[in-house]
Amino acid sequence: MNDKINDIVIAYCDSCKNDSNHRIVANHEKRYSIGDSPRCGIDFAEGTFQTLECLGCEDVHFRMYWFTSEDWPDEVVKFTRYPEKQDNFKNKMQPKRFSNLPRHLRLIYEETIQAYNHKSTVLAAAGIRALVEAVCVDRGVTDGLVKRKKNDGTEETTRKNNLEGKIEGMKEKAVITVSHAAAFHQCRFLGNEAVHELERPYPEELKLALEIIENTLESVFEVPEKISEVDHLKNHRLTKKLPNKVLHPTDHSGAATPPRCSGADGAARNSSIPRAPFWMI
Ligand SMILES: [Zn+2]
Repeated sequence: MNDKINDIVIAYCDSCKNDSNHRIVANHEKRYSIGDSPRCGIDFAEGTFQTLECLGCEDVHFRMYWFTSEDWPDEVVKFTRYPEKQDNFKNKMQPKRFSNLPRHLRLIYEETIQAYNHKSTVLAAAGIRALVEAVCVDRGVTDGLVKRKKNDGTEETTRKNNLEGKIEGMKEKAVITVSHAAAFHQCRFLGNEAVHELERPYPEELKLALEIIENTLESVFEVPEKISEVDHLKNHRLTKKLPNKVLHPTDHSGAATPPRCSGADGAARNSSIPRAPFWMI
């Protein structure tokens, strides 16, 4: 290539979101021929490596281009750029912030959102299934009663320890509602089809499944904590109004002290102390 440092070229800018003028701030070219390396199985390969700066927003990116003896001389120059051009996937999801979600669950949840945003649909479906299973494990549910239709048309109920059984177990123990259990089964099917049958789900299916998961995580992990906060505040208000009636046992000053309540992980904490941000939990 004939490009030189300080030449102005047109390239796509991810910040400006259009093709714009860029200045070449670094340019390096390398040529390999058949005698240079035993790995070079073709006549020659010429590599061009450039660092570009956008003349609009001053963002910098890198690009490279290979021309080999196997290419047609009039072939359109196609650069590979780093970082990759961001596509404008309009259904991208932002991970929700859950204050009380256990760390291992949060990691699976965030990785699943990431897989979905990168359109890795099979991985995202597998992540959704893994999340459902992880919720069951976290709640200590290992099995549940599953109904099966027999060949003679009658129904039998057996206790199963597979994911289907665990979801039913969550319903039995009232960890989740009947409708959440039905939604969890849909997520299970989605994951099974992707993992066992390599069936690629539509992004729209995944988005709905992820929204269902978010809704369930909210009700299983966040709502109980919010209820306990409401109780705590109510008790605090009542004890403040009636300081001589109910006092915290450790308080000897005569002033009402907010009672202690438990976090989602079971550790006692005083909620008058500011809660640690969710990423530190
Ligand atoms: Zn720019």
